[in-house]
Amino acid sequence: MNRELSHLKVLVIGGAGYIGSHTVKLLKEYGAHVTVLDNLSTGKQYLLQGDDFIEGDLGDKDLTSLIFKKYKFDAVMHFAAFSIVGESVVLPLKYYENNVAKTASFLEVMIEHNVKKFIFSSTAAVYGEPMRTPITEDHPCNPKNPYGRSKAMVENIMSDSLAADGLQYAALRYFNAAGADPCAMIGEAHEPETHLIPIVLEVAAGRREEVKIYGANYNTPDGTCIRDYIHVNDLAEAHILALNALIDGKDCCIYNLGSGQGYSVRQVIEVAREVTGHMIPVTEERPRAGDPAVLVASSAKIRKELGWQPKYDDLKVIIETAWKWHKNDRKAGR
Ligand code: UDP
Repeated sequence: MNRELSHLKVLVIGGAGYIGSHTVKLLKEYGAHVTVLDNLSTGKQYLLQGDDFIEGDLGDKDLTSLIFKKYKFDAVMHFAAFSIVGESVVLPLKYYENNVAKTASFLEVMIEHNVKKFIFSSTAAVYGEPMRTPITEDHPCNPKNPYGRSKAMVENIMSDSLAADGLQYAALRYFNAAGADPCAMIGEAHEPETHLIPIVLEVAAGRREEVKIYGANYNTPDGTCIRDYIHVNDLAEAHILALNALIDGKDCCIYNLGSGQGYSVRQVIEVAREVTGHMIPVTEERPRAGDPAVLVASSAKIRKELGWQPKYDDLKVIIETAWKWHKNDRKAGR
């Protein structure tokens, strides 16, 4: 059960992004004072929900030193990463510089200022091709692409910093984040868009002609890939629980965040047809390189240890919230 956080000052790096903005909104609902640091490279000003906003880069040590001197934070949440798998294969150094090197220099400054509670957005991509499913946290980590490797590297950095400097940390391994806050004022908007649900909704909104199904001959019941879609507000709630666990003295929290339920690409499209009333044409394409057939989380560990209970466990509700945001976002002319 989460508690009031009104005494807490939290720095959220990447708070102008999709998952970051939802977590900032929730932190504020629990009463925390939230400062957002974001370089707006992929984040959006209109997603900002915090008390203070600083435009800048997490790798800028002069800036982050100043910020730590000024604010006396209790904890940091870090969402500021590049996250497109295909791009990471083509531009690995961009990923290692931003996701790894800048995070390491940020942590150095943070620890220098004696702030030692850190909640990190990790990913199911740290596991690579699953050897068994649903995936539990003790599954071997063999990431298959630079994006997954960059996240796994930071997990190792945090573990070493726990041993050396007493850094308390949470690594939250997201499966497929989806949906939007029911207020429909914040939601998912990437450029270019590569994620299935927003693409499907762009077709429903008449902004794209069709959904390309990447791979229709996988070893799954309908031949398309199966993923575990988890609502962004449930992810946000898990961050607050992890923060409370660190406050209570836990020093290392590694948790999967997923619903435990898998849906195929075709099932997602079918539910989106139902929600939007649009026929959503599809074409079948070759598989995307490196896409595992099935990625489904076991989240038993965080449910048991921290009492996490996803509230949006129905794909239809997830897509409804995404669709509401999508329509609002278009109305706003973005
Ligand atoms: N996918 C698809 N067409 C698209 C985008 C995605 O068929 O236009 C598939 C993709 O191959 C994967 C699933 O949908 O099997 C989810 O992809 P997404 O990029 O949303 O998330 P990922 O699982 O890759 O992190």
